[in-house]
Amino acid sequence: MRFFWALLGYTTSVRSPLRGLVLSLFVFFFCLSCSKPHPTAIAIIHVTVIDATGAPPQPHSIVLIEDSKIAAVGPDSSLRTPNGAQVIDATGKFLIPGLADMHVHLTGAGEPSGSREFILPLLVANGVTTVRDMGGKSELLKQLRDEIDSGKRLGPQIFFTGPYLDGDPPGYQPAIVVKTPAEARSAVDQLAGEHVDFIKTQSRLERDPYFAIAEESQKKGIRFVGHVPDRVAVLEASQAGQASIEHLTGVLLGCSRKEDELRSEQFVPGPPNATPQQSLARSRTWQRELLNSYSPDKANALFRAFVANGTWQVPTFPIIVHFGFMTPRTDLSSDPRMVYVPQNERALWRQGVKDRMEFCTEADFVLREKVVKRYLDLVGKMQTAGVRIMAGTDFAAANVFPGSSLHEDLAFLVQAGLTPMQALQAATTNPAEFLGRQLIQGTIEPGQRADLVLLDANPLEDIRNTEKIRAVVLQGKLLDRNALDAMLNRVAQFAAK
Ligand SMILES: [Zn+2]
Repeated sequence: MRFFWALLGYTTSVRSPLRGLVLSLFVFFFCLSCSKPHPTAIAIIHVTVIDATGAPPQPHSIVLIEDSKIAAVGPDSSLRTPNGAQVIDATGKFLIPGLADMHVHLTGAGEPSGSREFILPLLVANGVTTVRDMGGKSELLKQLRDEIDSGKRLGPQIFFTGPYLDGDPPGYQPAIVVKTPAEARSAVDQLAGEHVDFIKTQSRLERDPYFAIAEESQKKGIRFVGHVPDRVAVLEASQAGQASIEHLTGVLLGCSRKEDELRSEQFVPGPPNATPQQSLARSRTWQRELLNSYSPDKANALFRAFVANGTWQVPTFPIIVHFGFMTPRTDLSSDPRMVYVPQNERALWRQGVKDRMEFCTEADFVLREKVVKRYLDLVGKMQTAGVRIMAGTDFAAANVFPGSSLHEDLAFLVQAGLTPMQALQAATTNPAEFLGRQLIQGTIEPGQRADLVLLDANPLEDIRNTEKIRAVVLQGKLLDRNALDAMLNRVAQFAAK
């Protein structure tokens, strides 16, 4: 079936006399299959398909789903629904591919219940059907993945890095501390043996171990991703083959005329008896210098290097805006979504927010807003320059909500200058390509995983419409609004305990 429809070319048009013949054959074979009842089939009819390839929306379409895959896509009139199929009348609704959050920490909110009772249901309820876990214990992540893949539990498909590779002392756990190139190589070998999908680098790595990770990863045929370490220039990281850079680490510094000078200043210890206020003042001076020394020429050269080296960016605006560079205006501590955050986690978030805001003055907040504005500007310029960008959130950091924060990230990407289609691609086709799975997921075409989100309004008119979710299809399983609301209610009950 798939083959014939693919020949017809719903999005890639086949304009030849063959088309009529192919169409007849297609209808003939399709009707053969119609005669067989297909109780697990789903037909979404009268829907506007936005397949995220960049093709214009296709109104009055039908999407057939069989056995966890998309079986056919076409104009309403061209396909008949198989006997026994569940029919969804989606008149006035919009269908997009399932979304990917490329920076998450599934096991970062208390195990074993944090991932299972809090994070996974929130992801599914918000249309997130693929995640890349950027730091956690391999064993726990493998268990979660097995539970999902075997159908025991609803959840997105998981790709993961396992523990961080970091310097001494490491910034976060779980980490493998690597202080020498030999230690770096053996850590990469160990993780490759554990079949992680990527190696994650962290901020405190020294230069030599970092470059050893780059070499050894290449040898093992595994990509390394993560933070650009504080002691490495972002251009060097790109040249060394780092596949994705998270949180724009090192990017603004890499656009500064004073890059080397500002980098070394970071390692000069402050006066031993400095008050918190004095430390903040020092950091303000540094940040101002960073903003003032921005060089458009250097930025352009850097972006060209990202394109040439295939260095992807995952800005993770939710953590940048709502935590890293938070102000009283972007603090989400009283956001209604807090009802979904477990009590113990809420206490950790409160502490995190307090630490982030304590001793800050309006001058700090204004400066933070300027940095965020510059970050948005950089991402817009990178997109224009052809740098590949993916959506990501970095939950469950304080103020970053599993699932719903991904929709915030899409809105930030549009604020940065991406079109709504480009923002959508940052969470669909781009992750599929980065993961080497563009034939399997990321769009709405026959043969792809049936991971879909049905929306009440057009996301190309307003990207915020991705939040108006009517239903989610997760590997061919339909979850309508009632099912999604029931999941959310269970999370809220769990959170209130
Ligand atoms: Zn992270």
